[in-house]
Amino acid sequence: MKWSNYKYLILRRIVQLGLLFLYFAGNIYGWKIIRGTLSSSSLFGTIPLSDPFAILQMFAAGATIGANALVGALIITLFYGIIGGRAFCSWVCPVNLITDLANWLRRVLYLDKIERKVWMSRNVRYYVFGLALLVSAISGLAAFEIISPITIMHRGVIFGFGSGVGFLIAIFLFDLFVTKNGWCGHICPLGATHSIIGRFAPLSVKHNADNCTLCMKCKEVCPESQVLNMIGKRSELVTKQECTNCGRCIDVCNDDALSFTIFKSKESNDENKQNIN
Ligand code: SF4
Ligand code: SF4
Repeated sequence: MKWSNYKYLILRRIVQLGLLFLYFAGNIYGWKIIRGTLSSSSLFGTIPLSDPFAILQMFAAGATIGANALVGALIITLFYGIIGGRAFCSWVCPVNLITDLANWLRRVLYLDKIERKVWMSRNVRYYVFGLALLVSAISGLAAFEIISPITIMHRGVIFGFGSGVGFLIAIFLFDLFVTKNGWCGHICPLGATHSIIGRFAPLSVKHNADNCTLCMKCKEVCPESQVLNMIGKRSELVTKQECTNCGRCIDVCNDDALSFTIFKSKESNDENKQNIN
């Protein structure tokens, strides 16, 4: 394997760990680059950033939402609406470090080869999303925020871990032994929110069937392998909103059959049509 087989993986880890460090430094050393939590933070002490799902829950719970929080949610929605909603999952969310580790261990321990005992629809996350809003409306509290493993992990790194670490271990064991990509690929309502946000993002992965040798390495490493259903069939853009734009499929492809592309342009679509015909 060449270093280019790890290019996006290394970049993602730099971004993920770099952000965690900046949040940590904001708390410990008072750095103002980015301070707060992933639910609500400020960039350079002035630009508000808010988690749109947290704001939706607060809205459902009947809370009064300040203008700053609304602007922050709008900024985040626009940002991920352009680069792909679930880029949050693979480039920012700290829980991804745990679930990627479980996914990697599944592959090296050949656990993927064991007959699957539990099947779960990948749409469960959208029901959990709706349920979190319903419970917020009934309880008057931002329900998912109370138990969110993303908050537990993020606050743990910045302020120190408490008993919530048990939830993180449970997610790791669930992903490792029960369902591949169980949490992020099936259950997490924040991932669902970001899927919806990124529905029409111009940045996406493009598959070139002419170069493809059908090695299927991309589908092996993809945390949302259903989005690569065109492999072996036709050249096509990955248009499914669950793609995390992690770039792992591009990293592992030695045949130059996958790449990032911006703007789902007429040119790209025409090219795809020609390849299909
Ligand atoms: S699916 Fe949820 S836990 Fe997983 S990376 Fe995305 S936001 Fe984080
Ligand atoms: S298609 Fe590629 S970029 Fe998208 S989630 Fe799968 S591996 Fe990541």
